[in-house]
Amino acid sequence: MNEYGLYIDGQWTAATSGRTFQSISPTSGEILATFAEGDGNDVEKAVQAAAKARKEWRCFPAPKRGEILLEAATNMRKRKKELGEMVSREMGKVISEGKGDVQEAIGFLEYIAGEGRRMFGQTTPSELPGKFCMTVRQPVGIVGLITPWNFPFAVPCWKPGAALMGGNTVIYKPASLVPLCAATLVTILEEAGLPPGVLNVVTGPAGRVGRAIVENPAVEAVSFTGSVSSGKDVYARAAAQIKRVGHELGGKNPQIVMDDADLSLAIEGVLFGAFGTAGQRCTATSRLILHEVIFDEMIERLVAGTKALKIGDPLDPAIDIGPVGSEDQEKKILDYIDIGKNEGAELIAGGHKLTESPHDKGFFIESTIFAARHGMRITTEEIFGPVHAVIKVIDYDEAIRVANDVEYGLSSAIYTNNLRLAHRAVDDLEAGIVYINPPTIGAEVHLPFGGIKNTGNGTREAGSTAIEEFTEIKTVFIDYSGKLQKAQIRD
Ligand code: NAD
Repeated sequence: MNEYGLYIDGQWTAATSGRTFQSISPTSGEILATFAEGDGNDVEKAVQAAAKARKEWRCFPAPKRGEILLEAATNMRKRKKELGEMVSREMGKVISEGKGDVQEAIGFLEYIAGEGRRMFGQTTPSELPGKFCMTVRQPVGIVGLITPWNFPFAVPCWKPGAALMGGNTVIYKPASLVPLCAATLVTILEEAGLPPGVLNVVTGPAGRVGRAIVENPAVEAVSFTGSVSSGKDVYARAAAQIKRVGHELGGKNPQIVMDDADLSLAIEGVLFGAFGTAGQRCTATSRLILHEVIFDEMIERLVAGTKALKIGDPLDPAIDIGPVGSEDQEKKILDYIDIGKNEGAELIAGGHKLTESPHDKGFFIESTIFAARHGMRITTEEIFGPVHAVIKVIDYDEAIRVANDVEYGLSSAIYTNNLRLAHRAVDDLEAGIVYINPPTIGAEVHLPFGGIKNTGNGTREAGSTAIEEFTEIKTVFIDYSGKLQKAQIRD
């Protein structure tokens, strides 16, 4: 069995404490590998390595930084099947989605590599003669990156990809459920030519490693993806040092279906949006808001479609839904099923843990649907599992009111063939992402990704905006008039 240390200054090293932890398959309980469990001492060592590598990496020409990332993407493409299987084994999403996770990582690295030849600033006329004005992008410095477990390659490529492209050196903490994918990503970047100390990885728990990264005074910015409650803690600790923070947090994403919609398309969309990745996507469709005219027909078709989904070994291509990510995840999701029942929602599909062979060694939960009323906890809180709430509304205005009446604002969807309503929904839905006629999942890496309200604090990962999170703008004035000119000082 493989053993991995921390990756600091280009070396795999044991944790200072000597402690280790294991990565365990959520499907079978098999131990996949052992990892060093870092703490604040290891974070400090990683910070020192990042500080040492900083000057050279900052001066490394941006197009050459892009070449390294492109080389990593090319190697990932060659290993896509193997890496996709690794995602399925370690995190539990089905193999088609495991390979999709890797594809998203490849796509983003290819995209951001090109930023090395863009990273544009602005030039603009001065208000004075003989004077030139421009902006340039510069690295932030040493950045801390903290990621969740549900996209073990994609999110860990979005963050380091953009941070490294921006010329920063990095302390990276992956989620403890998926350290094998993280360690593999590091070896790929190392083989692609990343110099020692530029990317340092400290695996270990949130309380010891995550917090130490956020609180280390030499870490100048933190980019965090995870739950709202963790995000609030990160924000508060970083605020004490006026530290820059990028937040990508949870969601409670609605799919509205109007009475004029293509119902077959809407059913296909919601089954994929709600139960893909066993509902463990920040953009998962967790609420279906149905116009009353099509409510009964949609419910009937939705229940039939849900019952037909096959749950099992994520490496089997015939399987639709894999296990949930961990025992803790399983407990939280089953608790929410109880909460739904207790608050009077009607359980219309699923609702149980699967305990018989071949599901007895993993964390398998039936795909579950509740007919609910807006305001119940299962309609407003992020469950992050295969539990879906359906809500009846009388018209478009009520649909929008219900869709928006949550603390989150990540993704949203409306199914309608009414052009006027579709455009109104783009205006009205309070979310960072709006889909017209697909479900709430399906981000593409060359477009900005992120949310509003408690989902985020304004950063947008991916797309042309990715580089903004990891660069500072410097404004430059060059006066070639040969005399002191005073801006604004005039009659
Ligand atoms: P989590 O918040 O428990 O943990 C995320 C990461 O942060 C982990 O590496 C964890 O160890 C670390 N962490 C947790 N608390 C911390 C703290 N106080 N200080 C520093 N580090 C800390 O989330 P999770 O269970 O890993 O992931 C699921 C959550 O992530 C869901 O809410 C989901 O919606 C969200 N998510 C959001 C996006 C997005 O782009 N908006 C993408 C994927 C997942």
